Amino acid sequence: MHNKSVAELSRDLESGKISSVELTREFLDRVKAEDQQYNSFITVTEDQAMADAKAADEQRAAGNATAWTGVPFAHKDLFCTKGVATTAGSKMLADFVPPYDATVTANFRDAGAVSLGKTNMDEFAMGSSNETSFFGAVTNPWGLSSGDKRVPGGSSGGSAAAIAARLVPAATATDTGGSIRLPAAFCGITGLKPTYGRVSRYGIIAFASSLDQGGTMARTAEDNALMLNVMAGFDPKDSTSVDRAVPDYTATLNEPLKGLRVGLPKEYFSDQLSPAMEQQVRNAVKEYEKLGATVKEVSLPHAKLAIAAYYVIAPAEASANLSRFDGVRYGYRCENPQDLHDLYTRTRGEGFGDEVKRRILVGTYALSAGYFDAYYLKAQKVRRLIQQDFINAFKEVDVLMSPVSPSPAFVQGANTSDPVTMYLEDIFTIAVNLAGVPAMSVPAGFVDGLPVGLQIIGNYFDEARLLNAAHQFQQVTDWHQKLPQ
Ligand code: GLN
Repeated sequence: MHNKSVAELSRDLESGKISSVELTREFLDRVKAEDQQYNSFITVTEDQAMADAKAADEQRAAGNATAWTGVPFAHKDLFCTKGVATTAGSKMLADFVPPYDATVTANFRDAGAVSLGKTNMDEFAMGSSNETSFFGAVTNPWGLSSGDKRVPGGSSGGSAAAIAARLVPAATATDTGGSIRLPAAFCGITGLKPTYGRVSRYGIIAFASSLDQGGTMARTAEDNALMLNVMAGFDPKDSTSVDRAVPDYTATLNEPLKGLRVGLPKEYFSDQLSPAMEQQVRNAVKEYEKLGATVKEVSLPHAKLAIAAYYVIAPAEASANLSRFDGVRYGYRCENPQDLHDLYTRTRGEGFGDEVKRRILVGTYALSAGYFDAYYLKAQKVRRLIQQDFINAFKEVDVLMSPVSPSPAFVQGANTSDPVTMYLEDIFTIAVNLAGVPAMSVPAGFVDGLPVGLQIIGNYFDEARLLNAAHQFQQVTDWHQKLPQ
């Protein structure tokens, strides 16, 4: 059962071939038996999951099931879950139990899905390798046979590794600068970052609010569509949520791709990209030509400025968002504070890890008087130019295709000593977040036995087209079906 997709499991539950109680038991047993080697879960909610599974079976028997009723999945530990620890991968929130659900959490609950628990992640979603988690690094299920432990990508590394290892068929994730697409690519699964504003941010612990976006991870594009059906929509509790009708994302999966106009941004096929990776991406583009797409080169002239702009804007917003963790209102508090200043400094000094502190320092500096114009304002102007690049490109083409990362999953520890090398992992993903457009990572081959992702970028609110393009590709390829080795 654990090799099946959400769509297949949903059909098996509907036909009575299996119950949610049996299915949930099977997945929980797999987590228990296998997750020591991956560390993909921070919290497993076994009793709650079994109770939810029983309730789901009753709901199905009563004839009011949704596609998700009784289907097991997991949440990235950035989504608030009422009564269940929500840590953001940080010591600061190690004991935080939210009194409310994120809108996304509530949506899955209302749909009858069965959460098995909370997945590991980089601390406060800051990272590209899932090595900054207070709860330890996550190991990528791919590449273990070579004897090396590789990173799953970050920051949603736990969700991606759990899906690749068949511990869950689907999991929620978030993407502020690539945190869905990079782990999806490194772990050989399919992930979607929706348009900024498509999925409510309410109850997702904030990193950089103008960039944060919740999204989907599963093995197939069809399952991503099933997830987005539950997650997308206007939410009055999120001031940047967009009031726009939500289509049934599964309805258009089988549209033919004849005439699809594909653009290849020349800046994303640069020296940074390894030739072996480029070959895999170009082979995938050839499949699209066979499916009837036309391909042309396009330009995103300001793409090269994306990393620099992001690493001013994201830390600036993070420094403001993380100021709430002061030892008074939420989370960790230091022992025996001598006075208020001591309480603040020791709480934050002890509660945050090094990467989070680095971001707070950079962000506070960029926002301080005298530097605001030189750094923050300048970065915002660059952001506007990057957005305009995408607007211009989508006048000529329907989707853009590129690599997700310059190379496949690296060995744990390889990039930890130099933050800039780590930041450059997101060189092909970050412009998308600055512009706010949707993008996917779709399994598209292997280099040295490790998965390679094809990035498909769409125009604003064009998620249905991305999912259609990914689904059609998955009808003629089987990269997304391969088992980790
Ligand atoms: N790797 C990027 C960072 O460290 C992006 C993280 C994310 O998308 N949450 O900020």
